Amino acid sequence: MAPDRNNSEYDFSRCKMCATYAASPKYELKKTTVYACAACDFHFINHLDSFPSVPPDDATKRLDRKAWDYIEGRLPAGRKQLRKNLLLVQRHMSLSGAHCLDIGAGAGLFAHLLAEAGASVHGIEPQGIFREFAQQKYGIELNGETIDARHWQEGYAGFFDVVTLWDVLEHVNFPAETLRNAYNVTKPGGWLFLDTPRRDALFYRISEWLYHLSGGANPLFLESLYSPLPFRHKQMFTLRQLLKFVEKTGFSITRMHCSFLHPQNKIVLVCRKP
Ligand SMILES: [Zn+2]
Repeated sequence: MAPDRNNSEYDFSRCKMCATYAASPKYELKKTTVYACAACDFHFINHLDSFPSVPPDDATKRLDRKAWDYIEGRLPAGRKQLRKNLLLVQRHMSLSGAHCLDIGAGAGLFAHLLAEAGASVHGIEPQGIFREFAQQKYGIELNGETIDARHWQEGYAGFFDVVTLWDVLEHVNFPAETLRNAYNVTKPGGWLFLDTPRRDALFYRISEWLYHLSGGANPLFLESLYSPLPFRHKQMFTLRQLLKFVEKTGFSITRMHCSFLHPQNKIVLVCRKP
């Protein structure tokens, strides 16, 4: 049975990863609660984003000068990482003429880099303000329909040579579904590249210890790692969970990079659809 998509009706005792009713509150944070699954130890918060995220008449979410400057001001920080990501993709394949899909394209910078490298690019970005920015800044038309939409699942099944999920799996409502849908639009022999923060990293562990020692008063980094605000972090994977999850979807993992010590710990995976 498909999980209920309504935030107020979804039963968070149902694990978003293994679908058993074995999850219960583990960390009570200021604005949200982290649930942990007794069956698979997946950690996720009791919040789902609703779509569309912004009512069409919400003037505070328009791309005015202030919003433009804010988005543009944050580009340099992301550019360095996304250039590295581009090199990682190019190490595995030639982008010239390749059909690429960037899921969670944000302001369109990675889609722009792919296009510059000669790829034929599609991008998904649910936030209208970012789509508008990408259109005006790079001339790229991002699509607001998420990967589970029929537009993608029926119109682009087995189509893409490359699918990218940079910093996406921790943000989406149902990561297992997102990954399955990404698999479906990938061509046999095509590539999936992803990165996501790692939960079994030192800073998360220290935060958990402190939470327990302080009786919940000091959750350290847990407050900043999860948020009920739209499109923020809803779940985090351990390395083992992520590898199992990706392989279960059907991808084979050809390369992995991860760090245990860095606070911005990320797992980077290069995967292939058989
Ligand atoms: Zn579970």
